[in-house]
Amino acid sequence: MQYSNTQRERLVQLNIDASLLEATFEDAEARDASFRSLEKELAKKAKTHLRSLLSSDAVTGSQAVGNTLCSWLQQKGFTRVDTPTIISDKMLDKMSIDDKHHLREQVFWIDRHKCLRPMLAPNLYIVMRELKKTLNTPVKIFEMGSCFRKESQGARHMNEFTMLNFVELATVKDGEQKEYLEKMAREAMAALKIDDYELIIEESTVYGTTVDIEIDGIEVASGAYGPHELDSAWAVFDTWVGIGFGIERLAMAMNGGKTIKRFGRSTNYLDGVPISL
Ligand code: ATP
Ligand code: MG
Repeated sequence: MQYSNTQRERLVQLNIDASLLEATFEDAEARDASFRSLEKELAKKAKTHLRSLLSSDAVTGSQAVGNTLCSWLQQKGFTRVDTPTIISDKMLDKMSIDDKHHLREQVFWIDRHKCLRPMLAPNLYIVMRELKKTLNTPVKIFEMGSCFRKESQGARHMNEFTMLNFVELATVKDGEQKEYLEKMAREAMAALKIDDYELIIEESTVYGTTVDIEIDGIEVASGAYGPHELDSAWAVFDTWVGIGFGIERLAMAMNGGKTIKRFGRSTNYLDGVPISL
């Protein structure tokens, strides 16, 4: 005899170790007794964690990932920028996200010409270009903020997630972009103290050649570089490199979580722990 569906759901909510879920019992009495003691133990653990989060300097896993990457970049001379979450349809067109592109269907529209940004790249293209033009100097900037995509809500996707995207314009010699991008990816993983990851080179329709970072086969970041097919639409003519990190994906990977929602913006969970027990 195994845990009932209701018992399983409750134990999963309380972050039970997956291997314990498959336990078998002689009869319902033994099973229910085991459920009760496990539930009590897990609820106690959850409360201890929530209590520790209420202490003054505590941060959640997602916040820790964001903080670490922000200070790593700031130490390297990057400037943090904040740009609007609402962007125009023209920006999507310039990213070549047109009716034929799969991302187009994932866009949340506010009205006929405005939408919630599905990525940070369009705004960053503009900001880095204008800073370079105005100051005639290489530019290193990054943004961390919400992006929005209609997703089928699997264990790795949310409709609203946090992206941290850094970009550098005119800092790298042509021909050295890929190597440099890989170096930055490795440095980011070192800053987060992640040893177990893979760099994967892929071809993408929006970004050309990409350098992805994967942990346990899950993509946690995508890097790209230029000169690139899209650059002329943005009037960008220098070399550039950039990586977009999925903050909640990283937090999930670092905390051994199975479902990303627990690490996202939520009124149900704090740092992966249910707040209603
Ligand atoms: P995937 O193929 O996994 O859907 P993607 O390649 O479409 O991701 P990118 O556009 O490369 O995603 O975005 C950069 C990073 O943002 C991804 O590597 C991932 O970590 C994160 N990310 C993308 N979409 C989501 C989402 N819906 N929910 C949570 N994180 C996401
Ligand atoms: Mg990607």
